[in-house]
Amino acid sequence: MHPEAPSDTIIQALVDPALTLDRSLNVLDANAAARDVFGWVRLRQHVSHTSRHPELTAAVADAQRLRQRRTFVLDMRTPLDRRLEGIVTPLNVEARADDQAAFLISLRDLTEQERLASMRADFVANASHELRTPLASLKGFIETMQGPARTDVTAHARFLDIMSQQADRMTRLIDDLLSLSRIEMRAHIPPSATVDLNDIATSVVAALEPQAMLAGATVAVHRLQGRATVRGEHDELVQAIQNLVQNAIKYGRAGGRVDVRIGEESPAALRSISISDDGPGIAPEHLPRLTERFYRVSVASSRDRGGTGLGLAIVKHIVTRHRGTLAITSSVGRGATFKITLPAA
Ligand code: ADP
Repeated sequence: MHPEAPSDTIIQALVDPALTLDRSLNVLDANAAARDVFGWVRLRQHVSHTSRHPELTAAVADAQRLRQRRTFVLDMRTPLDRRLEGIVTPLNVEARADDQAAFLISLRDLTEQERLASMRADFVANASHELRTPLASLKGFIETMQGPARTDVTAHARFLDIMSQQADRMTRLIDDLLSLSRIEMRAHIPPSATVDLNDIATSVVAALEPQAMLAGATVAVHRLQGRATVRGEHDELVQAIQNLVQNAIKYGRAGGRVDVRIGEESPAALRSISISDDGPGIAPEHLPRLTERFYRVSVASSRDRGGTGLGLAIVKHIVTRHRGTLAITSSVGRGATFKITLPAA
């Protein structure tokens, strides 16, 4: 780096794509991120040899003509679909010699930001839709009880039963939404406590005993000989394992069998917990999408079982925060296995 060219060092130090041009609009310098965006940079040549995007060349020409900062948006197709926002800033142009930076082009990648914004919008739309359905049903029953069925006391008892189920469904949905947002808020903070997967599995299965009994399912825990300690947040791991065992009971065979197995993986620095059922399983085309929010193989069957479509999304978020992996294997008619692998403490 040359001490007489301080702008070069600044450009190279920037994380976002940036280029400097001399007063004739030839490229003087570009950083690695800019080379990445354009694929190449032609130094000492007019900027149009580096980027042919009309939005960029027009903004540069305007900045030169008007001596004013100009902004532009670039939609790139290659090498990847991305959208960038650019700013051309004149740097005291009059005072500059031929080999000095007279314009700065800085770029900011909007792709990720826009993807997140659209995900958020989709999520809000989905969540409102999920809440609106039970709400509409509640409203319908209230109106019926106020109107046509005002005096029908036997019908009232039946309606109130259904209304109570709908209210429960809304409560579950809100609980799951709150869990998801709590976990998301902590996504970047690695867990600091240590927990034993043997103990968590045993207590989760004990707590779900009544549910298993109702479904006539047998749930067996296969503990790891010795300790299965991982770095993890107790409550979050309980929730993840509980969601998986609950799913195995809900979607497994009536009177079926669920196995919860704690394992040691190779390399030995990993521990795992897998939950397998002997139910109808899941067709391969659904597997990659199961952890998406509100994704369900069958909406009706999920609703019948009190599902919200958020259980596996919560599991996935918890596992990601724990720097672990979630693997789902299944073949139709032969059950499903959900396996969480976590770094050992
Ligand atoms: P839900 O609240 O609908 O249970 P989840 O996110 O927990 O939501 O699960 C998403 C979908 O994955 C379920 O609706 C169901 O179709 C499918 N699924 C989950 N676990 C199993 C399993 N053990 N066997 C078969 N299908 C399953």
